[in-house]
Amino acid sequence: MSHNTIGQAVVIGAGIAGLQAAQVLRDKFEQVTIIERDTLPSEPIPRPGVPQGRQANALLAKGLAVIEELCPGFTTRLADAGARTLDMCRDLRMRLDAGLAPVTQPGPLFQLSSRPLLETTLRSLVTEAANVEVADGQTVTGLSTDSTPLRVTGVRLRSGDRLTADLVVDASGRTSHLRNWLTEQGMPRVRETTISAGTACTTRFYQAPETPTRRMGFVAAQQVPHRPVGAYILPIEHHRVVVSLYSAKGHDPPTDDGFEQAARGLHELCADILEPLHPLTHPVRYGHCANRMTHYDQAPWWPDGLIALGDAVCTLNPVYAQGITTAALQARILRNILAGDLGRHWTRRFQHLARRELAWPWLLATAADQEWINQAHPGSNRRRGLPDRLANWYIARWRDHVPTSPYLYREFARMMHMLDGPASLVRPVLVIRILRRPPLVVMD
Ligand SMILES: Cc1cc2nc3c(=O)[nH]c(=O)nc-3n(C[C@H](O)[C@H](O)[C@H](O)COP(=O)(O)OP(=O)(O)OC[C@H]3O[C@@H](n4cnc5c(N)ncnc54)[C@H](O)[C@@H]3O)c2cc1C
Repeated sequence: MSHNTIGQAVVIGAGIAGLQAAQVLRDKFEQVTIIERDTLPSEPIPRPGVPQGRQANALLAKGLAVIEELCPGFTTRLADAGARTLDMCRDLRMRLDAGLAPVTQPGPLFQLSSRPLLETTLRSLVTEAANVEVADGQTVTGLSTDSTPLRVTGVRLRSGDRLTADLVVDASGRTSHLRNWLTEQGMPRVRETTISAGTACTTRFYQAPETPTRRMGFVAAQQVPHRPVGAYILPIEHHRVVVSLYSAKGHDPPTDDGFEQAARGLHELCADILEPLHPLTHPVRYGHCANRMTHYDQAPWWPDGLIALGDAVCTLNPVYAQGITTAALQARILRNILAGDLGRHWTRRFQHLARRELAWPWLLATAADQEWINQAHPGSNRRRGLPDRLANWYIARWRDHVPTSPYLYREFARMMHMLDGPASLVRPVLVIRILRRPPLVVMD
């Protein structure tokens, strides 16, 4: 802990964003208290506050690298707990519109586990610090404030108690009430943008035989308009396999035994992987997959003593698997700010920097979803901006090269894993290859 520590930080939510925030706050604050409404299980099992625990939660290579940077030792712990380490381009097969991606290496290395294992591993690491504690089974119902200029001084709990804090971090995820709480404090309602393609995901967990199977995993991309169902079939801990089907509006797979038929029917490789597996759970559907940005960075004023990060600020359609990684990137911004001279209004600066970090993932997720919306409502095409249309066009062209170019596939996989940002995606060597006419590929 540094010499000039501040007093108490309160983090709302012990999800992935809250845990990472706590990890970086512990060096600056004497005490960090995470308030979590769920009673947290000691075993890695799904819990009510995190319904995505029953769905596939892939940790992208970039997210893994940033979490490791913030929480040294995390990668080893997760692997020791059973997570699978995979090379994206060697161990997973990917089906795109133009055909199957080639088997090549090295691709991005990443770790696959269930969401509950990921979370309990991170929680055990973060809460080892003497000044970090989790108060579970407690729900935050509002903010305590000082009047002019407005400063957040703590939180109110459902129990009626109040907790004072020098900093409150809202990491309460998709169900965050922060917008309402700020309105109660007199702030005009903060603007929100929602882009929903009506995507749902339906997931079932399976047990694989202990002897390794030939195929490890499979990814089938959705593509507008003729491939409304995509799939992630991913090996996770304890020889389990998670099968998630992502569906555009009106194309949801059944949540009974018809689910397996739908999965097998996607490609012969899906049927091949599923053949030796035994179902462990019933298929579960999750339908709230909209992209939503709350523009806290544009609020007319921002109270001292408060920041918000993770899904509480921006939720992304989970089909792109970016949420955990963007939470990690925001926690890293927080660490960097805390490491310097805080100065006045640093919490407002944080919201601006976080918004800037979110620009690229937001564009990637919403540009593709806008295609689905346009398909359903052709008139909405006019609302698309040039960056969206360019991004879609460029990525579609790139995808068409993937089946015939191991190089372009590896680069594509780096983009998917958020290892490369916008600047490196327009490198001349890449652009020239992508802009060439893609060869014709026999559709599989
Ligand atoms: C179906 C689905 C699949 C996903 N798949 C992926 C994936 O493959 N890869 C990926 O990177 N991301 C994925 N995501 C997104 C990812 O789960 C989140 O972006 C990530 O977990 C960061 O979330 P968070 O910590 O902000 O919120 P959460 O993980 O949702 O945690 C919020 C926490 O706050 C608690 N809480 C809420 N309100 C209160 C309150 N008032 N008081 C106290 N506690 C409160 C909740 O109980 C919860 O524990 C997926 C999301 C969904 C919905």
